Amino acid sequence: SEERSLNFIEEIVEADISAGKHDGRVLTRFPPEPNGYLHIGHAKSICLNFGLAKKYNGKTNLRFDDTNPVKEDVEYVDSIKADVKWLGFDWAQELYASDYFDQLYDFAVTLIKADLAYVDDSTAEEIAAQKGTPTEPGTPNQFRSRSVEENLELFADMKAGKYPDGAKVLRAKVDLASPNMHLRDPLMYRIKHAHHHRTGDAWCIYPMYDFAHGQSDAIEKITHSICTLEFIPHRALYDWFIEQLSLFPSHQYEMARLNMTYTVMSKRKLLKLVEEGHVEDWDDPRMPTISGMRRRGYPAASIREFCERIGVAKRENMIDLSLLEFCVREDLNKNTWRRMAVLDPIKLVITNYPEGQSEVLVGENNPEVEGGDGEREIPFNNELWIEREDFMEEPPKKFFRLGVGLSVRLKNAYIVKCESFVKDADGNVTEVHCTYIPQSKSGSDTSGINVKGTIHWVSVAQAKTAEVRLYDRLFRVEDPSSEDGDFKEYLNPDSLQIINAYVEPDLANAEMGKAVQFIRKGYFNLDKHSTADKLVFNRTVTLKDGWKV
Ligand code: ATP
Ligand code: MG
Ligand code: MG
Repeated sequence: SEERSLNFIEEIVEADISAGKHDGRVLTRFPPEPNGYLHIGHAKSICLNFGLAKKYNGKTNLRFDDTNPVKEDVEYVDSIKADVKWLGFDWAQELYASDYFDQLYDFAVTLIKADLAYVDDSTAEEIAAQKGTPTEPGTPNQFRSRSVEENLELFADMKAGKYPDGAKVLRAKVDLASPNMHLRDPLMYRIKHAHHHRTGDAWCIYPMYDFAHGQSDAIEKITHSICTLEFIPHRALYDWFIEQLSLFPSHQYEMARLNMTYTVMSKRKLLKLVEEGHVEDWDDPRMPTISGMRRRGYPAASIREFCERIGVAKRENMIDLSLLEFCVREDLNKNTWRRMAVLDPIKLVITNYPEGQSEVLVGENNPEVEGGDGEREIPFNNELWIEREDFMEEPPKKFFRLGVGLSVRLKNAYIVKCESFVKDADGNVTEVHCTYIPQSKSGSDTSGINVKGTIHWVSVAQAKTAEVRLYDRLFRVEDPSSEDGDFKEYLNPDSLQIINAYVEPDLANAEMGKAVQFIRKGYFNLDKHSTADKLVFNRTVTLKDGWKV
């Protein structure tokens, strides 16, 4: 790939390596919370974290940030591992923040002993009110001056399950007057009598994100801990805990999150779409999830290329969905086999081709590859399906397809000339009648006739039927999350169209994950619901943005 300038995180890493920081070692982590499926925003974080490690001879840990028992599940853990692998990355270690619960508890005890943490009996509302405002300092309550001994005992009792949810919290004693609200005695632990998908019922107190994340980084000796911009105000607290506990000095760096047009990218919102049945599941091909994009037929390499192109910014921005589709098309154009499928069929009868006769033509698999990447057989006879839009009763000038008196080439076959057509009682065209030119066979054409248009077709007798799912944007506005009201009001009611198509027989050999180009119609991937009796294809992307025939 071509040289590009370093992004700001690579600059930091290179400076650290030259300065000999951490002996030049690079260890990053990708820290998903297993409360949903990964989406394209996570792909950006994955490509960055694993990409840095690859580039600088380092490693990346996959760490599940599983400190909130209520919303987390092993189904999500499994899907996350599958998605990261599919994207093409291998982690050094598979780790869980919950494996550090004992160690985190000990860290909390250390802070209590240093009089840097206290048990607070206040309600959430009281704590919020006592925190003050950005312009006014907070006020200490009577719990802040509890003795170390009392705090140790109360914290042990919290852990032992003596108190109900919400009765007490453990807070860090930092600075109630700090201009950074996150330093005004932040919560470290809350009581939650909930079953955890890994630790079961061993714990009824759970650490807050701010107390778990930095310490987990430090335990693993992560050198560069990359998160998104909203965590900038958390960084002082991240550093404070590490300093007070004298831990490995992991450092947090923030980058802009990926936002993309015509979609939503929060797991909470994506879960709503699944739960309320607006989509089939997390892997619905309209979803911005990695599993949805895989099912739709996006190659992993095109997603990596997209992440490379958008780069790493320090400011929030909105990326156009069409850039992702551009990367998908570029990849598929180079790598897919071409096949013929008729999505809106009308019958073409070749009146001078003997009925009952047939022949086998051939077509190369991929014209983008030297030698065509092999070829497949295509049966041909006197009755074919063509696209309804390739015939016009009254063709305008420069219509280079079929109409009475006009000629086209049938792809990989012969030139045909339209002689007449048949209509039903409602006035719909049902058949187009043509004559073919026997000397015009593709590859051995001696007819001397030139035609401007080439159309695709399939043999009526040999075609397979297929259900074809055509997708449009999931939302009808660019940024559904910024609109008034519920984001679901902005769903595109026409995001899925299901049609029945006729496809060339070789498509019975199609494989999931090996997208094909339906000539003139776009790129398609076999769906997981496809069977030998009923082929099902998802349109991955059209051939061109806003392409018109
Ligand atoms: P969501 O808002 O979708 O729930 P999250 O940040 O809570 O996302 P996590 O599972 O905690 O989800 O994210 C794992 C990692 O992926 C974090 O480091 C997070 O910063 C990063 N990440 C999540 N969403 C994006 C995004 N849109 N762009 C870039 N990185 C992201
Ligand atoms: Mg998170
Ligand atoms: Mg979240």
